[in-house]
Amino acid sequence: RLEIRNLRRFFDGRAVVDDVSLQIEAGQVMCLLGPSGCGKSTTLRMIAGVEMQDSGEIYVDGKLICDTVFRVPPERREIGLIFQDFALFPHLSVADNVAFGLKGSKDEKRARVQELLSKVSLAQYIDEFPHQLSGGEQQRVALARALAPKPRIMLMDEPFSGLDNRLRDGIRDETLALLKEEDAAVLLVTHEPEEAMRMADEIALMRAGKIVQQGAPYNVYTRPADRAAVSFFSDTN
Ligand code: ATP
Ligand code: MG
Repeated sequence: RLEIRNLRRFFDGRAVVDDVSLQIEAGQVMCLLGPSGCGKSTTLRMIAGVEMQDSGEIYVDGKLICDTVFRVPPERREIGLIFQDFALFPHLSVADNVAFGLKGSKDEKRARVQELLSKVSLAQYIDEFPHQLSGGEQQRVALARALAPKPRIMLMDEPFSGLDNRLRDGIRDETLALLKEEDAAVLLVTHEPEEAMRMADEIALMRAGKIVQQGAPYNVYTRPADRAAVSFFSDTN
């Protein structure tokens, strides 16, 4: 379970993330949806711990992991990350990429790697290298890698943007099924309403650093909070 309270971040005197509070339960997918520059990635980076907030707190499973004085380092936050470019390590095999963040014996690691790769239907590629895989296959390896250490929280920043339309729907559905199975709390960033409608249990609509509306996809779509929300949904569709 992820909870953020009153997160703020200023750049050059401007509040880029302005008093953002969200709660995501285990097994739930929340989509942070909003136009370019509204502060989505900055929010994710603060949760990941690679960017420091100016105020506010972050909790994982009820435990404080970061406020303005106390800070758990990124690698100990039990948070999985997938970013837009999802770079795999080119010199490591698929198996070693997925095993990268894992602890334990060689056999334990191998078993977990095999489990994850078969879940993303790539078991036969275990000893290949990234350049031998298509973009969509690499994306699935990145997903397997992020999930391998069983993170409590999964942060995804436009993870499907590099894929063509035909691949995207399939991978979205597959990803969603796998995330549910692993019971992580998921925060997925997108600027595409259609993607949020398809993936989210709950949508948080963000604009100019603030959450302007939050709710089930159907409710946000059919009862937009204001004019700007209406035009955001219709413009990009
Ligand atoms: P996109 O959909 O284009 O990825 P976003 O919602 O992820 O946009 P952010 O990357 O969070 O937007 O950026 C929000 C605002 O903060 C932007 O106006 C950006 O220029 C500004 N910003 C982000 N990082 C910095 C930084 N390190 N220094 C100064 N300004 C920054
Ligand atoms: Mg961004």
